[in-house]
Amino acid sequence: MPYLIPTYLFDGFSLKTNTCIQVDDEGIVLDILTKEPFPSSGIVLNGLLMPGMINCHCHLELSHMKGAIPKHTGLVNFLMTINQSRNLQNNLEIATAIDQAEKEMISNGIVAVGDISNKLDTLEQKKKHDLNYHNFIETFGLEDEQASHRFETSMSICKAFQEIAPSSIVLHAPYSISNTLIQLVNDFNQNKLSTIHNQECDAENELFQKGTGDFLQLIQWILKSPKEIHPTGKSSLQSYLPMLSQINKLILVHNTVSTKDDIEFAQQTNKELYWCLCPHANLYIENTLPDVNLLYASNCKLVVGTDSLASNDHLSIWGELFVLHAHFPTIPLDEKLKWATSNGAEALGMNSTLGSLENGKQPGIVFIENFNIEHPFDESTKIQTLFKAGKIYS
Ligand SMILES: [Zn+2]
Repeated sequence: MPYLIPTYLFDGFSLKTNTCIQVDDEGIVLDILTKEPFPSSGIVLNGLLMPGMINCHCHLELSHMKGAIPKHTGLVNFLMTINQSRNLQNNLEIATAIDQAEKEMISNGIVAVGDISNKLDTLEQKKKHDLNYHNFIETFGLEDEQASHRFETSMSICKAFQEIAPSSIVLHAPYSISNTLIQLVNDFNQNKLSTIHNQECDAENELFQKGTGDFLQLIQWILKSPKEIHPTGKSSLQSYLPMLSQINKLILVHNTVSTKDDIEFAQQTNKELYWCLCPHANLYIENTLPDVNLLYASNCKLVVGTDSLASNDHLSIWGELFVLHAHFPTIPLDEKLKWATSNGAEALGMNSTLGSLENGKQPGIVFIENFNIEHPFDESTKIQTLFKAGKIYS
């Protein structure tokens, strides 16, 4: 039963020194000692010890699109290119990319993923249970007449994923869905975890506020005909959130242009909300970042995601923290580590096992070699998994 004595220990909530942790051979936490002397058999580790990291937003099925889409072209161009080129590779190439992407996440200390699926491409990989997943089966469609067909297709995909891990049917984004589809998903998702891409760029808000802008062109391109838009005069978040009356637990992803007014509006709905940051993807697509200082100061529960390899060069939560720390240096390091661990585990409903170093939990024990408190995300840091996380569903 090894005792580990790291320079720094992050337990999922705060950063500590002078701490020794005892785990069993499976990596289940047995004890945390905060008073010296520590056992002489303890293994001294020069760096940071922490629980495995949680990736709250990924699209594993897009892994074969790494490098396929040019950077900084904006969300409208990004979505058009994804639609045109996501089916260009064969099944073997797609499966190989999925396998490699999952391995990359594991080697970067990730132990659980909230993963968006439109299709069944990732099902075989997920059957291996090498990572813990919550599957978000994504549905979209702008025409009310097609909503029930779209929903039924998603339902059959959801049934297949539900056999292997918790799964929910979720809406893609406010600009790509009809009111009928919102109603179907809202009714189905009572007491289930849900997620939606939220306020990723100004054009999204403009569509709802005024019925104009780049997203109108996107919609016409998708439908191949003009569509009558009924602007609400409100931001996208303030337009759709009241329609999700049955959904109590919701991960809002991106929040790039969410304002103080939007945050206050959302908080007044009394939903259990998590605000997911995917900074590398925001920089890749729009070359901008959400106002993380505002989200933090507004007491939003923050979590972190990588998004897909179509909009990111790596799948690493540690790498996302690096960007957040560089751009928002005044937010304490403890808080950022919490977003990547205990907050993420709570958001995905996996906090009974994952996200924190507490007695009886098996969160995966990750060691950051060469961790330096002055430059925590220095390039010389190396991520090692000393003990794998428990399998929540197998
Ligand atoms: Zn996404």
